[in-house]
Amino acid sequence: MTIAVYPGTFDPVHFGHIEIAKRAAALFDHVIVAVYARPLKNLLFSTEERKALMRRAVADIPNIEVDSYTGVTVEYLRSRDARVIVRGLRVTYDFELEYQMALTNKKLASEIETVLLVTSLEYAFLSSSIVKEIAIAGGCINQMVSSDVERALFAKLKELGSEGQGKVPLVSLRD
Ligand code: ADP
Repeated sequence: MTIAVYPGTFDPVHFGHIEIAKRAAALFDHVIVAVYARPLKNLLFSTEERKALMRRAVADIPNIEVDSYTGVTVEYLRSRDARVIVRGLRVTYDFELEYQMALTNKKLASEIETVLLVTSLEYAFLSSSIVKEIAIAGGCINQMVSSDVERALFAKLKELGSEGQGKVPLVSLRD
C-alpha cells in the first residue's frame, strides 16, 4: 500500500488544490492532505479552519484523509509510513522552488520520492493569494473556490476588518 502526502498551506483551499488531491488519490492507495500548521507567513485562516475547509472540499473522495503537521515534512511522512510527497506545478517559477524542495527532501530522507503533478491549464493561474486579493477587492471568486470557501472567506474578512488586508500579500502566483 503506497501512502502519499500532499502538504501545503491551503489558505484557503481552491479548485487547483482539489484537482491535484483528486489526481493523487487516483494514483496512490491513500493520500493524506497535510495542512502545514506553522508556516512562515501571515495566514488568514487558522490551522483548524484550513483543515475543516479542506475536509469538506474532499469529503467525497474515500481514500483522502486530512491532517495537519508541524516541523519537517519528511519527518511527518516517516511518522505516517508515507513514501511519496505530492506537489502541484503551475508556472516555471513553481518549478525552481519545487525542484529545490525535492532535492532538499531527498537529502534529508532518501527513501522518500517527490511526485510533481502538472496543473491543468484551467488552474494554472490560480493561487490562494489571488483568491484572497480578489475577495478583498469585492470580486467574484466562484470559479476558483467552492461556495463553502467563498462564504468562509467573506465572513473572515468581515470579522477581521482592515486587519484582514494585512494578511493578504500582494498578488503573486506563489502563495
Ligand atoms: P505552499 O504549500 O507552497 O505554501 P499552497 O498551500 O498554496 O502553497 O500549495 C500547496 C501545493 O499545491 C503546492 O505544491 C502548490 O504548488 C500546489 N498548487 C497551488 N495552486 C495550484 C494550482 N492552481 N494548480 C496546481 N497546483 C497548485
